[in-house]
Amino acid sequence: MPRHIAVIGGGITGITTAYSLLKRGFDVTVFEKNLYAAMETSFANGGQLSASNAEVWNHWPTVIKGLRWMLRSDAPLLVSPRPTWHKLSWFAEFIRAIPQYENNTSETARLAIAAREHLFQWAADESIDFDVKHEGILHIYRDKKGFDHAANVSKLLAKGGLERRSVTPEEMRAIEPTLAGNYYGGFYTESDATGDIHKFTHSLAQAAERRGATLNYGHSVRDLGANETSAWVVAEVDGQSVRQTFDGVVVCAGVGSRHLAAKLGDRVNIYPVKGYSITVGLNDAASQQGAPTVSLLDDDTKLVTSRLGNDRFRVAGTAEFSGINRDIRDDRIRPLIRWVEECFPNVSTRQVVPWAGLRPMLPNMMPRVGNGKLPTVFYNTGHGHLGWTLSAITAELLADAVESSAVQTRAVLAR
Ligand SMILES: Cc1cc2nc3c(=O)[nH]c(=O)nc-3n(C[C@H](O)[C@H](O)[C@H](O)COP(=O)(O)OP(=O)(O)OC[C@H]3O[C@@H](n4cnc5c(N)ncnc54)[C@H](O)[C@@H]3O)c2cc1C
Repeated sequence: MPRHIAVIGGGITGITTAYSLLKRGFDVTVFEKNLYAAMETSFANGGQLSASNAEVWNHWPTVIKGLRWMLRSDAPLLVSPRPTWHKLSWFAEFIRAIPQYENNTSETARLAIAAREHLFQWAADESIDFDVKHEGILHIYRDKKGFDHAANVSKLLAKGGLERRSVTPEEMRAIEPTLAGNYYGGFYTESDATGDIHKFTHSLAQAAERRGATLNYGHSVRDLGANETSAWVVAEVDGQSVRQTFDGVVVCAGVGSRHLAAKLGDRVNIYPVKGYSITVGLNDAASQQGAPTVSLLDDDTKLVTSRLGNDRFRVAGTAEFSGINRDIRDDRIRPLIRWVEECFPNVSTRQVVPWAGLRPMLPNMMPRVGNGKLPTVFYNTGHGHLGWTLSAITAELLADAVESSAVQTRAVLAR
């Protein structure tokens, strides 16, 4: 009989995990508190499938830049002054991870490249339309300092297997003619792509259902536990508590993972790092022609862009440390709109849909993938700023871990 695994969370990590497990022959039940898949952080992110954005932030120059930014209200980084134990412990571990900056950047690039073949294959196998664009990602720099730093990052990315090339301002204009402004130079990664995370996750969830998964939407997991041979989940649905037992549980609950991990006896120190996006409606021909089709990353403002279909232009960024707080602040949205108006003057900003989401971020900026303390407990969570990019490979790695644990359990039972 196939082993039955519970997956907690119906964002990109939970749904890709469910899909990978199903393909290996497991029975899968997903618990998601919302009524649909991908309604939280996997709803309206930057859209980039970006090995070129694999640089982790655990780097002294980034920390110093961040401290300077804290003095400006429109800066890409905002840290609420309220000191909580969670925030302080997270920052202490973030600093302790600085010696791993180079290795973790190269490793993230390697994972991001490995993710591509799975994600695009699944989209083809399940006929998923997610406004994918294979036009590469262009990183843009206004000064020599930023450009020189990027050249050093390129060496780390190359160690992970990523090829990206430096481009002159003239070459930048040829790659993306709609971009206005003066630039020192850029780096172009042809192999990177973009796509709509919500559309993809929603369609992959439907594909998982067709392949036999049970998708328990509207099920909020209130309690869970495990022992050496099984795991149990208590979910609240329509005001009732429902308890179910499984052979194993995988926690993919985004910023909810830390709390659930504590119940399972594990420490997964995820902090919710808030970011914002705007989706600009390209409702007239001038805006459609004036918006870029190549994806951009502006390293000064830390903004990323994606063209989603003909009539949507997504701009996302900023990092805010203010706990579990999804409020959309006008003073954080305004700089995104201003940036569009400056860089793409022919795009009308009459229709702009703002959004805020919480990145589930671990202090070393690497996702937690694999076993917990108990052999029946697994984690695939903490993907921070790159959850869309890394999801397909971490789902595969997680399925490897569950599979090898299932093999070990069978061997123990057979003795
Ligand atoms: C502004 C912004 C821009 C970004 N841009 C990019 C980008 O360009 N490229 C990229 O690769 N990444 C990007 N990211 C990061 C990426 O979006 C995230 O890493 C990813 O969406 C996280 O997915 P997840 O499945 O871990 O979390 P989520 O999508 O939040 O999913 C977790 C799910 O678990 C459910 N859940 C939690 N607790 C419970 C419970 N107790 N019971 C039941 N269900 C529960 C939640 O409802 C949620 O649906 C961006 C993020 C932000 C905020």
